[in-house]
Amino acid sequence: MTHQFELGEKFDSALLADAPRVRLSRRGMIMGLASGSVFPFISGCATNLATGESQFLLVDDATIANMSATAWTDMKAQTPQTSNSKLKGRVLNIWDRTIQGAVKQGHVSPNAQWDVAVFDTDDVNAFVMPGNRVGVYRGITELTENDDQISSVLGHETGHVVGKHAEERYSVGVAAQIGLMAGQIAVASSEELSKYGSAIGALGGAAVQFGVILPYSRKHELQADKLGVDYMHNAGYDVKQSIRLWELMAAQSEGQRPPEFMSTHPDPLRRAEELRTYINARGYALI
Ligand SMILES: [Zn+2]
Repeated sequence: MTHQFELGEKFDSALLADAPRVRLSRRGMIMGLASGSVFPFISGCATNLATGESQFLLVDDATIANMSATAWTDMKAQTPQTSNSKLKGRVLNIWDRTIQGAVKQGHVSPNAQWDVAVFDTDDVNAFVMPGNRVGVYRGITELTENDDQISSVLGHETGHVVGKHAEERYSVGVAAQIGLMAGQIAVASSEELSKYGSAIGALGGAAVQFGVILPYSRKHELQADKLGVDYMHNAGYDVKQSIRLWELMAAQSEGQRPPEFMSTHPDPLRRAEELRTYINARGYALI
């Protein structure tokens, strides 16, 4: 079974959840491609050891980490970071504790190095870039009511790393760009791919590089939500607060611009419901 890319489909910019506010230069993109590291197609489907799922990957972690280095440096140069040392310390503490939850799960190496920045803007967002680069905006810390909810955000971002979602997005983008988008690709049986196809077509080539611009798919968001809850639980945070977080996101979005962290796919209350089911099934809490 194959899917065809629907190039004319409208792309909803509200889908850009957890995408950093960064514009990549054409030069940077060309350099990334010219590095040649994504060619030839020596890899394809690989099994993710943490999630057990088969993924379409044309790029390894180190390569994509290298490619996003410039975007991360530019981002830190262009976006002010908080000078509030109390806020920064708080976020870093929650980060340390949450990441230990992922280590405990066996999903993250205890030796992994992370670069966490707290940006001083009102954006209600957070993101992770390949290479263990994590961005949190002041805005999302102000929307949240407690450390547990911030842990939920950070656990979610860690879930994107563990799920290798950026690598998968990037790989799909490359595959589409180099002309495999005729609907003949074997991997096109993936629902993921057809979804990306519409985004790629509408955004054009400029948006698909580096795996940092495309929105995560609904499937990736839900997977990151669930992994995040596992990490929260291991870290001793109150997992029920992950549900509250999505309720807050939903409330915030009523009658105004939705928070960037909140993707319209899936809808936040649906996410809250999926989390409730998951938390009960795992026995973390009965809610
Ligand atoms: Zn996400």
